[in-house]
Amino acid sequence: MIRSLFLILTLTSATLGAWMGSASKLHSENLPLVVIDPGHGGADLGAIGVNGVFEKDIVLDFAKSLKKQLEKRGTVRVLLTRDRDIFLSLEDRVRFTRKQNGTVFLSIHADTITATADIRGVTIYTGDDRPSDAEAARVAEAENRSDLGLAAPEGKIDTSINDILGDLMLRETRAHSILLAQELASRIADVVQLNRNPVRAAGFRVLRAPDIPSVLIEIGYLSSKNDIDLLTSADWRDRTSERLAAGINEFISRTRVNAVQTPPSP
Ligand code: ZN
Repeated sequence: MIRSLFLILTLTSATLGAWMGSASKLHSENLPLVVIDPGHGGADLGAIGVNGVFEKDIVLDFAKSLKKQLEKRGTVRVLLTRDRDIFLSLEDRVRFTRKQNGTVFLSIHADTITATADIRGVTIYTGDDRPSDAEAARVAEAENRSDLGLAAPEGKIDTSINDILGDLMLRETRAHSILLAQELASRIADVVQLNRNPVRAAGFRVLRAPDIPSVLIEIGYLSSKNDIDLLTSADWRDRTSERLAAGINEFISRTRVNAVQTPPSP
């Protein structure tokens, strides 16, 4: 009798545990999805710092820190387009984000400054066929070169939208991207040096998802020894990514973009 009571209790708690496990899995699957994209990777080193450090490594470390800060809050799911040192084409990154039904997309980069550049400090870019200024166009051109000479498949990013509301959707997505960029810039203003025009736009190929607010963040400059010291400091990374995580959360809760995923129709 006692033994069967024990068995019933054990079974009940196992069933309850399994039910609670699947309920929390279901809950987490409904959370908005943040896709973080560490730029470059594999044979594509990105920019090379004055001390020989590679952009592809710096941005991967930063992306992991941002993922950790976002997951701590428990309000979003997070996926990285790459979590190790592999090459991904720009198209792969956009395709992955759309396939996963991402709520927002953030590409992380750390450029070098050319002698003529007037860009100093962190800059957050949104995608636009018409660049906001010549420097933004130069940065986009440099980042778009990622695929050249490497094993990137030729072909266009599929930006087709199947209804006549496509144009409106694209405009709304771009407006949201600008809102996201502004929110992030204001959140990090007191932990990083911001560019005097911190939110800019240009034709970045990786920001071409027509339905997902997308930004590209240049977190620092590898041509500056001071910036490299900051970018390789775990403390700076954690502080900056904590602010960005707060900004991403604020943006998602304010706009509720894709906050509730609708199940596919039968
Ligand atoms: Zn880059």
